[in-house]
Amino acid sequence: MKKHNFYAGPSILSQYTIKNTADAVINFADMGLSILEISHRSKQFQAVMDEAVALFKELLEIPEGYSVLFLGGGASLQFCQVPMNLLAKKAGYLDTGVWASKAIKEAKLFGVVDIVASSKDRNYNYIPKDYTVPEGLDYFHYTSNNTIYGTEIRKDPEAGNVRLVADMSSDIFSRPVDVSKYDLIYGGAQKNLAPAGVTFVIVRDDALGHVDRVLPTMLDYRTHVKKGSMFNTPPVLPIFAALQTLKYYKQLGGVREIEKTCVAKAAKLYEAIDSSRMFVATVPDHADRSLMNVCFVMKPEYADLEKDFIDFATAKGMMGIKGHRDVGGFRASLYNALPMESVDALVECMKEFQNK
Ligand SMILES: *Cc1c(COP(=O)(O)O)cnc(C)c1O
Repeated sequence: MKKHNFYAGPSILSQYTIKNTADAVINFADMGLSILEISHRSKQFQAVMDEAVALFKELLEIPEGYSVLFLGGGASLQFCQVPMNLLAKKAGYLDTGVWASKAIKEAKLFGVVDIVASSKDRNYNYIPKDYTVPEGLDYFHYTSNNTIYGTEIRKDPEAGNVRLVADMSSDIFSRPVDVSKYDLIYGGAQKNLAPAGVTFVIVRDDALGHVDRVLPTMLDYRTHVKKGSMFNTPPVLPIFAALQTLKYYKQLGGVREIEKTCVAKAAKLYEAIDSSRMFVATVPDHADRSLMNVCFVMKPEYADLEKDFIDFATAKGMMGIKGHRDVGGFRASLYNALPMESVDALVECMKEFQNK
């Protein structure tokens, strides 16, 4: 039976990425050796790193003066590495969910944190809008896509002269981003890019070096800028896989084309939810709804059918639609690599269940 992959992360990768990565595990770059057993300083791997950085910059139209890094530690390490490198006195944070809160907790270790706005009062089911970013902050941090709650900020927030920092773990490459407005963008790769194990960081070079504290070598971005993410052994296989995904995105026509498909996929699923008598979306305001993670629950009168629907859908090949424990219900993640066909299958499955 055909499986449809709605997992939230790690999550669906293109078949192009998976096949080419599998091939490289057997025979990398015609070396007659696996990519798992060769030096990261070989010219063959250096070529992978160089091409991945170049394509990353090309696809996101990253201006001069920025570096793209491939590091370890996940987005969670960035929660502390960002303030360690950029927070001199005070930073502003937008509190839109679990990941944002974790970033706030770490930032407090390095300076004053101003929580500029929060949507905690309604279990993070909306994006706060009535706020102004105060002047004089070292940076303003936000989470562009709230993977757990299914909300998303698709337009760069208005921050005046304050530079932006964003966690884009779960919606990178789903739309164009004006990188010039940012000091730093980071994310774990395991949602829209690669298998777990590599973290991307886009950093404005002259944003670095303005804090007084002593930085451990490995946690100083300048180490990795200087060494092209090769100060120590980088996560070679995830970086190879990331390169395949980037090539695939280029074949698709780049982020503008990907965005169109993402809009169409999400519209179809939200429409099916909104028009159903059984299901209801957890994010009421359409403008706040994530294109990446569609969260929905049973209406109260059908609440006891929740488990039945999971079982029904799983039996039909819908994988990973159980909602996060903080929200309950269901979550269908529609990352870039998910085909429209899978959305159609899920919508069909919801209809069949309701008719039954
Ligand atoms: C998954 C996720 C994280 C955590 O990433 P790790 O690589 O597991 O540390 C952080 N932020 C967002 C928005 C995420 O979706």
